[in-house]
Amino acid sequence: MTGNEQKYIAQAFESNWIAPMGENVNQFETEVAAYATTNAAAALSSGTAAIHLALQLLGVGKGDRVFCSSLTFVASANPILYAGAEPVFIDSEEETWNMSPWALQKAFAAAEQEGKLPKAVIIVHIYGQSARMDELIALCSHYGVPIIEDAAESLGSTYKGRKTGSLGTFGIFSFNGNKIITTSGGGMLVSNDRRSIAKARFLASQAKDEAPYYEHSRVGYNYRMSNVLAGIGRAQLEAIELRVGARRDVYNRYFTAIGSHPAVKFQPELEGTRSNRWLSVMLLDPEKTERSPDQLREWLESENIESRRVWKPLHLQPLFAGCKFYSHNAHGKTAVSEKLFEQGLCLPSGSDLEPIKQERIIHLIEEILK
Ligand SMILES: *Cc1c(COP(=O)(O)O)cnc(C)c1O
Repeated sequence: MTGNEQKYIAQAFESNWIAPMGENVNQFETEVAAYATTNAAAALSSGTAAIHLALQLLGVGKGDRVFCSSLTFVASANPILYAGAEPVFIDSEEETWNMSPWALQKAFAAAEQEGKLPKAVIIVHIYGQSARMDELIALCSHYGVPIIEDAAESLGSTYKGRKTGSLGTFGIFSFNGNKIITTSGGGMLVSNDRRSIAKARFLASQAKDEAPYYEHSRVGYNYRMSNVLAGIGRAQLEAIELRVGARRDVYNRYFTAIGSHPAVKFQPELEGTRSNRWLSVMLLDPEKTERSPDQLREWLESENIESRRVWKPLHLQPLFAGCKFYSHNAHGKTAVSEKLFEQGLCLPSGSDLEPIKQERIIHLIEEILK
């Protein structure tokens, strides 16, 4: 917390608007839209809800197909299942760890052959690093398929000077407790299309028709953000640039200390992009060290330091068994996302990680890699 949250929470209590509507919700939407440089925003109960509504607004329904990055948290793809649609997973490429334009091209070509193009493509900016948007947008435009940017982890990151979340038809942010700013739980759907955002608010409040009584013509959801939590979000958003700076400092300290170790590589920052470095993530090259990411994780754990494995790609998850997957690499070669999963480790990256504590972490990593 920044210290200013109480001010906005107090305003919610003073006005007696504790409902999922009120001044904080309206202001938080305006402020996030302005920050993300989009025309409009809808404050929601989670990032997952935002993805679900984006799919609804794009008309994704039963039997439709949706392409999605494979290297991501399950929340990126769960809403595809809520919609009764078919997820198709796309591999990563080495320079951003995000959706490979080469694999996406293969997936589009195969879908076109089958006569079944996807209704949407969900592009994730993993760990805060933006994907190769120019190439991905060009492909999606060619096939006429809209993009949902899952910017849950990348608030504050830029691609060629433009904010992630503002580059697709829809963008989504998450304010879950683990994200760079938080409302404890919450999310935001952003778009330049004001009418779609108005419709998202309608769907998120049980789809009540204009009538003097309760009338409903279509299925709705209870997905709005509470006015109290929006107050937390307003104070948090004021601190976003400080948070990005702090996370980048954390990354730079890791990189300076261990980035030149022959077995160690960090997530690259593609030229022309700026990552918020939500998490500092390293790879251990199995040809240059006998230590595995799990050994390193356990070693840190024994010192009461938490680290975590890189997301297990969704095409390897039991939940998505049988779903199609398009690799960046030729048949028979390990997919890029699988390699990142096998070799990657997310290091402690909190905005409030003190340099002296981080030195201890670095020292332990150096010890085990000796
Ligand atoms: C956190 C996260 C989400 C989901 O956000 P919630 O607010 O937790 O529902 C979606 N996608 C990615 C990549 C995430 O990291």
